[in-house]
Amino acid sequence: MNESTIYQWLITAAFTMAGVVFVTLFFINAPYGRHSRSGWGITINDRLGWVIMESASALIFLYFWAIGPYNRSLTALVFLAMWEIHYMHRAFIFPFTTRSSTRRITVAVVAMGLLFNTMNAYLNSRYLFSLSGGYSDSWLSGLHFLIGGALFAFGFFINRQADLTLRNLRPAGTTAYKIPYGGMYRWISCPNYCGEIMIWLGWAIATWSLPGLAFAVWTAANLVPRARSHQKWYKEHFPEYPLNRKTLFPGLW
Ligand code: NDP
Repeated sequence: MNESTIYQWLITAAFTMAGVVFVTLFFINAPYGRHSRSGWGITINDRLGWVIMESASALIFLYFWAIGPYNRSLTALVFLAMWEIHYMHRAFIFPFTTRSSTRRITVAVVAMGLLFNTMNAYLNSRYLFSLSGGYSDSWLSGLHFLIGGALFAFGFFINRQADLTLRNLRPAGTTAYKIPYGGMYRWISCPNYCGEIMIWLGWAIATWSLPGLAFAVWTAANLVPRARSHQKWYKEHFPEYPLNRKTLFPGLW
């Protein structure tokens, strides 16, 4: 089997997995964070788990950029920078900014995250720096990049600001939950997820690529049901939770 066949097969698998995950997560909450529970096997330190899962994305993407025949154009370097700014932070900074160093995560979640991130980083980087035939420098002044890049940057800002708000709710070393206020929490319960979906939708538009679209669809398939679970959880645990606060999309849902 040649690489092109394997690549097509993996793209199909990515879209199929997104559909399966979307439906499954409406019935089963992924067992990490507030939805952690026993019965999911061996656990490891939460921070280590995040580093393992997310560093795969950063490193694999970097590898396929390094060996790609079309890796020197300005556009290729901008795509590399966008991906790595996000994933270097997610893998090596975000896990150490969370307040609790004692939280555990199941190996099953880490393994699934690692599997998806490996496949996703390969699909995106292999396409951008090899299979696409390369992006010209003028791509950066085209409509796809301008719209997608702006959405990516806006989503990035929303995601980081929302995660920072959550971090600041907890004194160091504690694990209690509080109601977040301010920023986009005025309108929705999960602005970090809203920002994350915007980031990868922006990426899909900026790269105008099938693997980019697969990642955007996967992110939404993963985070829409989880946002629904978070919203339900907040309402069950905080009787004073703001009634008019939507789940994920301001004014809509
Ligand atoms: P959560 O919003 O569930 O939690 C983020 C952090 O804030 C955790 O450390 C959590 O602690 C803490 N926290 C959450 N709510 C509160 C609260 N009310 N009071 C105090 N602390 C709180 O996000 P996730 O952990 O699911 O995701 C983390 C990041 O990773 C997000 O930016 C998300 O967008 C991204 N992500 C992206 C995915 C993708 O498919 N692209 C998939 C999953 C996540 P605790 O762990 O104890 O709950």
